[in-house]
Amino acid sequence: MPKIAIVGAGQCGLTLAAGLLRTGDHEVTIVSALTADQVRSRRPTSTQVMFEPTLAIERDRGLALWDDQTPAIEALHMTLAPTPQTPRLDLVGRLPAPARSVDQRVKMARLLDELDQHVRTQTVTVDDLEGYLDSGRYDLVVVAAGRGELAELFTRIPERSPYTTPQRKLAVCYVRGMAPDPDVDVVDGHFNVVPGAGEIIVIPALTTTGTCDIIFVEAIPGGPMDVFDAGMTPQQHLAALQDVLRTNAPWLAERCTAITPTDPNANLVGAFTPTVRNPVGILPSGRAVLGLADVVLANDPITAQGSNAAARAAAFWEQAIRDHGDGPFGTDWMHANAERFWTEIGETPTRWTNELMLPHPPAPHVAQILGAATQFPEVADRIAYGFTDPDDLNDWFMTPEAAERYLGEVVARHQAATS
Ligand SMILES: Cc1cc2nc3c(=O)[nH]c(=O)nc-3n(C[C@H](O)[C@H](O)[C@H](O)COP(=O)(O)OP(=O)(O)OC[C@H]3O[C@@H](n4cnc5c(N)ncnc54)[C@H](O)[C@@H]3O)c2cc1C
Repeated sequence: MPKIAIVGAGQCGLTLAAGLLRTGDHEVTIVSALTADQVRSRRPTSTQVMFEPTLAIERDRGLALWDDQTPAIEALHMTLAPTPQTPRLDLVGRLPAPARSVDQRVKMARLLDELDQHVRTQTVTVDDLEGYLDSGRYDLVVVAAGRGELAELFTRIPERSPYTTPQRKLAVCYVRGMAPDPDVDVVDGHFNVVPGAGEIIVIPALTTTGTCDIIFVEAIPGGPMDVFDAGMTPQQHLAALQDVLRTNAPWLAERCTAITPTDPNANLVGAFTPTVRNPVGILPSGRAVLGLADVVLANDPITAQGSNAAARAAAFWEQAIRDHGDGPFGTDWMHANAERFWTEIGETPTRWTNELMLPHPPAPHVAQILGAATQFPEVADRIAYGFTDPDDLNDWFMTPEAAERYLGEVVARHQAATS
């Protein structure tokens, strides 16, 4: 039976482990830097909205344990803030099925408990990785340790990584007491673009203390919303946030007059450089380990794709491991599957996310799409669908030609229906 070590008990590592353990064909060890209790009491790590296809991956592996407690996000509300030249623009797209956000502190802590007998607690070093491959202790070592130090084992691919510095400063606060969105009649995620400043995203979620809203500021470095720092307490963070909202998104400030942090560690501030890496990491001894999810595909969270890609990576590699039978899991096998993963799953969300990072305002064809979406609900719904299935964006969103063709079809359909 192949023996698999999975380093990192996050979205990818735990989904992969739970998937492989379903059938008993593999011996699986998960190595986690933190215990379940440490995960539960740490700061948040994400806003972790997941859409139907990846929620289905979790359901299939028995990991959808919070559906009845977690707000079902049925729509995406997008607001483009007004400028001296342009009025405020709003559109609401319905999702084909609800999206959900379960605080990773809740999810990963519980899954660590559930998979307890397969978990070892240890902060893994490169020497440890060498040890795992000594004398056949493990047949395959997977590194799913997020954006931490172990990612440095994997070389950056410059042609897939257009940026060399963080494109946004990330500031997250989990709050209670936010008033519902007055413009939408269902539970919605609210994506606000403030030209020249960045984005403010509101996500209903489940956290360690019950349901909440997450207010996530993606600040352009050096811009007017870049006011948060990592040393802030949740209370200080909220005070800074209230100022940011009053100045940049007063319609959100009105919903936030009574907000309080959900817990003593309810905020997170940071930044990272979006980076795509070679998934085959070569150890000093020359032996190879396989990098998955954020280790090798770390995109800015603006499009909410990272956890989704991590779950997809887990499902993809679970199948590849199963199909490979008894191994050996050599570098040819790793490279071939990694390239297939990139082409089939990783590339489009990466390109889309990186393009959204470009300085405002949006490209003319994107502005045209947004304008059309205020007029034609089917366009707004298709934007929302793009978050669920980014590949769909290739057919109509990603280039001016595709957008022109699609919008022409929408207008023709509308004219036919109304004539
Ligand atoms: C502010 C923010 C908001 C986000 N919002 C969204 C969103 O709404 N939707 C979405 O899809 N994605 C979102 N993401 C991205 C998403 O959180 C990540 O892409 C996803 O969690 C990556 O999963 P992973 O398994 O690769 O890594 P992680 O979830 O980071 O897990 C890695 C695990 O490895 C452990 N580890 C690290 N080093 C070691 C070591 N040496 N030894 C042992 N264990 C180790 C860590 O403790 C951790 O438990 C967001 C990210 C951020 C920063």
